[in-house]
Amino acid sequence: MGLGRFRISGLIGLALAASVLFARPPAQATGLVGARLAARDIAAGVAVTAATVERSATTAKFIFDLNRPLAVEAYVLADPDRVVVELPETSFLIDPAVGRDLPTHRKGEPAALVSGFRFGQFARGRSRIVFDLAGPARIVKALAESTESGGAARLVIELAHAQPDAFRAAARAARAAQLQKAPAREEPPAQANPPVKPLVVIDAGHGGVDMGAVGAKSSYEKDVVLDVARRLAARLEAGGRMRTLLTRDADEFIPLADRVKIARKASAALFVSIHADMLNETSVHGATVYTVSDRASDAEAARVAAAENAADKAGGMAESEEIGDVNDILFDLTRRETRAIGHQFAVSLIDFWKAAGDLNKNPIRSAGFVVLKAPDVPSVLLELGYMSNERDLAKLNSEEWRQTAANRVAQSIERYFARRTAGAEAPALERSAGLAIAR
Ligand SMILES: [Zn+2]
Repeated sequence: MGLGRFRISGLIGLALAASVLFARPPAQATGLVGARLAARDIAAGVAVTAATVERSATTAKFIFDLNRPLAVEAYVLADPDRVVVELPETSFLIDPAVGRDLPTHRKGEPAALVSGFRFGQFARGRSRIVFDLAGPARIVKALAESTESGGAARLVIELAHAQPDAFRAAARAARAAQLQKAPAREEPPAQANPPVKPLVVIDAGHGGVDMGAVGAKSSYEKDVVLDVARRLAARLEAGGRMRTLLTRDADEFIPLADRVKIARKASAALFVSIHADMLNETSVHGATVYTVSDRASDAEAARVAAAENAADKAGGMAESEEIGDVNDILFDLTRRETRAIGHQFAVSLIDFWKAAGDLNKNPIRSAGFVVLKAPDVPSVLLELGYMSNERDLAKLNSEEWRQTAANRVAQSIERYFARRTAGAEAPALERSAGLAIAR
């Protein structure tokens, strides 16, 4: 028996589906985003205009209405178990909440093969739909068929329960195929001459198919942090003392390792990754600055690093690329110095932030963040606040607060580099950091 069939066509469809079909509608489905949808244009090309979901304990069928036919590729990945559907760049004119936390149990019995799905841009020119599996599955059908009515098409994804061994084998094969055609991402050309002004690489966390944390009223971490990153870059450029480069300036998915590569290739003097956190405990609030360390400073830092390091998997990547640990004394020395500089900057950032901002009670922590692992670029990760805390979320959603936050971070960066240039801080570190390792 089917767990439920519903069709989403814009907001009304979703509201109906949620209220009619589920006795207890998922909490997230109630926070609808009219403005977000109204503001989103159909990019030249493919658009998804509606989604129909049919699920049972052993099967799942998804139908996405399209404005035209397209080529799709679908495959399974394990740990976490997912089905990834690759599309050309696609505008999703459906609410992102539609795929979140679909109920998988009914009266305590497992009742669905698919627990949720996400969609969005994965790279320039490419989009993805990622289905989270509650059990091993195989792809019965993944096809975009033309329909009778002029030009329109339907993307049909049909999944069925599979034997665990067969699923694992298919996931292994798909992973091998995906790793072989690893994305050749455009990177900024290396500087021929050393830059006069130090370059700050500003990294807005998440993006595209990876939403990051999700607050009430469908606020997405990926949107909040991109806006703050842009404001920070604009403020630093206006200050005239720093150059900036954004790892992403659009709603696109970028693997963690690629963010690190962008910073290294561009010979960044500093890498600042911007995020917003999420906890079940809604009273926790305030900003936290993280640096990288082999061992987490505390359990909370370990949790945050694990959550942020899962970004690649949220984007449907087969495997995160690790920044290789080289057993080399020069490498080790450089990395140690880079980390020391990162920590000094973190302290300076906290000083500026606490002048006007709300800090977590333990505002400097460290753990094994993949995105902070450049051995030769001092790197920090700033969690602006908690999207799970009402007061923090109101700030994160306020343009005024975002600008103030960007200004504060910019000031701390300018001050930090002014002091370093004046030789007041860590001249020895500056001399050797970055020289030992070919970028
Ligand atoms: Zn994040």
